[in-house]
Amino acid sequence: MSYAKVLSVGLVGVRGHLVEVEADLANGLPMVALSGLPDTALNEARDRVRAAIVNSGQSWPHRRITVNLLPAALPKHGSGFDVAIACAVLAGAGELPLAALHEVAVIGELGLDGTVRPVRGVLPMVLAAHRAGVRRVVVPYANAAEASLVPGVTVRATDTLHRLVGFVLGRERLLDPPPVSALPAAGGPDLADVVGQPLGRRALEVAAAGGHHLAMVGPPGAGKTMLARRLPSVLPALDDEAALEVTALHSVAGVLPAQSPLVRRPPLQAPHHSASVAALVGGGSGLARPGALSLAHRGVLFLDEAPEFGARVLEALRQPLEEGVVRLRRSRGQTDFPAQVQLVLAANPCPCARPAGDLACDCTPLVRRRYLGRLSGPLLDRIDVHVSLPPLTAAELLDEQARGESSAVVAERVAKARAAAAARWAGHGWRVNADVPGAALRSPRWRLPRSVLAPVRHDLDTGGLSARGYDRVLRIAWTIADLDGRERPDRGDVCEASELRKGEAHG
Ligand SMILES: [Zn+2]
Repeated sequence: MSYAKVLSVGLVGVRGHLVEVEADLANGLPMVALSGLPDTALNEARDRVRAAIVNSGQSWPHRRITVNLLPAALPKHGSGFDVAIACAVLAGAGELPLAALHEVAVIGELGLDGTVRPVRGVLPMVLAAHRAGVRRVVVPYANAAEASLVPGVTVRATDTLHRLVGFVLGRERLLDPPPVSALPAAGGPDLADVVGQPLGRRALEVAAAGGHHLAMVGPPGAGKTMLARRLPSVLPALDDEAALEVTALHSVAGVLPAQSPLVRRPPLQAPHHSASVAALVGGGSGLARPGALSLAHRGVLFLDEAPEFGARVLEALRQPLEEGVVRLRRSRGQTDFPAQVQLVLAANPCPCARPAGDLACDCTPLVRRRYLGRLSGPLLDRIDVHVSLPPLTAAELLDEQARGESSAVVAERVAKARAAAAARWAGHGWRVNADVPGAALRSPRWRLPRSVLAPVRHDLDTGGLSARGYDRVLRIAWTIADLDGRERPDRGDVCEASELRKGEAHG
């Protein structure tokens, strides 16, 4: 036989596609031609595969070899086809009967010495294989735990090409995936560690319950960072579907922990303010990597010292925040990565970042305004909850009693509030109050009576509250009502909602 075919899986963005790897061996000048839209890394497979085959004790067929990857129109990236190519070439040369690999998708990169190396994106690849009706996969041992997260697929692993060849010849066994820890990875930091700061805690709880983006301005040491990092701890755990979706993105980025690969908690990403646009939105040559925005998908994107971020970086956030997806323009078409994030911004009130009341700070009101003005209007427009946090008092710092509730207690209220909101908006396609357009909240069905709106009436009439600001007050008021178990917001809810956007610089 001089022709053979082996199944593998390619990735575009975070979506896998079943790929057929064909090898045809003909007489003629010994050479290897690779076709089917390969990228540079894949083109180099020729050298890797040849060396790996020879170093695994097999002989390299000195013939005219054509390797073709189908479907031809699908761009192929990276090194994950190496093992499938090696098997197809050996089978085409008549050295390997492929019955054992019938209807099996083979994934993995080859080292020159014949070791099978892990690749990025194995989880979405195995999901794609399953979708295409393939029920058995062979993956690199280092990826076996994440591959085994896909229900309904039998996963076998190999560490070397030698072992896989031995298996196909009926002489060796493949490896079983290591046991995956059923327990979710240890939770992040707990709200119980946060001293004082009742306004900040309340803002965080409301943001969590309503899915609202949050902006916190306050002097260094006020606890902004501590609070932001604890937002995931009060959000609901990811359900099965969301967990696989998030884990797939982390898999493509190559950042999954080996032992407990399934991401069960909403992730948090806190890129440094020196981060590039690419670090935030993703990119890179070959198989694109998701950036911080997509690694925070269904979790929290925290921008500490937000005004220090470059204008281009902040600008790059706008479209993904609107659409919930990052669209990367690539040389060979577009790659989309999901990016539904809850945004948390923190900022010092002035560029010198000295503690409030410190005599060394002589920033003028104009300097302060300009500093916060670096956060563009369109970005701030998407944020519902804006609070200005006071510095911690010495009494708060010393008082052990100032410690607040634990994350578990707050998370329970958040879950109830989210359930109430989800039930109310179920017929409209909105999950959380932050999704609800202002026009809907102002419509007769949901409009609040004049008496309830009295606390903001004056500001509205005198122009102290813009139309957008008013919509924000309404959204937050509904969340507060949900948290407190009221069917509709009352006057007190509107009053508190108005406080929770007072930190907004304008509008
Ligand atoms: Zn200052």
